[in-house]
Amino acid sequence: MKIYCCEEHVELALDVFVDEEETFPELRTVDNPERLSTNCEYCRNQAAYLVENV
Ligand SMILES: [Zn+2]
Repeated sequence: MKIYCCEEHVELALDVFVDEEETFPELRTVDNPERLSTNCEYCRNQAAYLVENV
């Protein structure tokens, strides 16, 4: 799974990921312009991080 999230929701995204995947994800920063067109899964902020499978 992939979760885009803002800085505010990183911990939430990690919790959700670990809960669903039962493994720890890779956390990487989202670069422009991908960031500009992607919103956080949990609010309307621009995504700062991508949580995904290693
Ligand atoms: Zn957010």
